[in-house]
Amino acid sequence: MADHPVFSIIAPVFNEEPIIDELYRRVAEVMDSTGESWELVMVNDGSYDGSAEKMRALQQRDPRVRVINFARNFGHQNAVTAGMDYARGDAVVIIDADLQDPPAVILDLIAKWREGYHVVYAVRSERRGETWFKRLTAKIFYRMIYRITDVNIPLDTGDFRLMDRQVVDAVKSMREHNRFIRGMTSWVGFRQTGVHYVRQERFAGETKYPLRKMVRFALDAITGFSYFPLQVMIHASLVLALIAVLGVPIVAFLRLATGELIFEGQATTLVVLLLLSSFQLFFFFIMGQYVARIYDEVRQRPLYIVAEVWETPTDQAQPEGAEPAAVQQAEDASSHG
Ligand code: UDP
Ligand code: MG
Repeated sequence: MADHPVFSIIAPVFNEEPIIDELYRRVAEVMDSTGESWELVMVNDGSYDGSAEKMRALQQRDPRVRVINFARNFGHQNAVTAGMDYARGDAVVIIDADLQDPPAVILDLIAKWREGYHVVYAVRSERRGETWFKRLTAKIFYRMIYRITDVNIPLDTGDFRLMDRQVVDAVKSMREHNRFIRGMTSWVGFRQTGVHYVRQERFAGETKYPLRKMVRFALDAITGFSYFPLQVMIHASLVLALIAVLGVPIVAFLRLATGELIFEGQATTLVVLLLLSSFQLFFFFIMGQYVARIYDEVRQRPLYIVAEVWETPTDQAQPEGAEPAAVQQAEDASSHG
């Protein structure tokens, strides 16, 4: 057996206790049917329910399971990043732990990879069991990102995708903060294609993406891949300058011609002042978004901190049913930072 598996499946886990066993069962079923070696890298993103215990038990039963435990919740995109850092496969698949991405679709992704594609992303042709609000905001989000970014990020596509080792290594070299992984895997290039699938209902539990996280995620996507919000300012300033250039002589003319005090009084001044300053504050906010992200880069903090790794060293890996081998516990992941 080679010292590394052919396929790595990465699943970020944040409080998914009722799902872990079913996720493992379905991934194992699908991956065993390929006849190739595989590993399941579960990244525990600071879960505080029983997820860790479930994953530990799985790891002890099956050495193909590896569990990366974060020191706290670092967010979905950082969890996926850690999965890519630890994955050893020739091809790496990112999948949501909640089974909204059906593991059976992995076979379609693999088929395209065998045809020679380096990135095979899964496009949601339908979404089941999600609120109209989520579907609408997602729809608007993907279309907006598509229009304003410089890279071609495919529509209605999440992180569910297969990446060739070359792509994984390229994306791993991008250590930027506030990550938008589906954008980064498009940005690197290589041969890319998509397959369609029906996004399922969550197997159990609630979404771990409340509105607050969704907004943050959207801002990361926009600022990470577009200067559009900054460029909007120049248009706004031109429009305002035009209004001033035209408005001032028009008002002066009207006052002289009619003898009436048009636009008289403090109310007018107040309205214009408030309108303009709210406009300016909004642009400050946009600039602040970019400045904050520059600050994140300058500090050069690691993207995540690993508290513990549960895995069976490859040379001790036993086939299923054998005595569980010793579990290696890494104190930190400085070599992966
Ligand atoms: N997730 C995570 N960290 C977080 C939020 C989510 O690792 O801070 C994981 C979560 O466990 C799931 C995946 O990311 O496996 C997608 O999250 P979720 O299903 O809640 O998002 P949705 O599908 O509702 O957009
Ligand atoms: Mg989900």
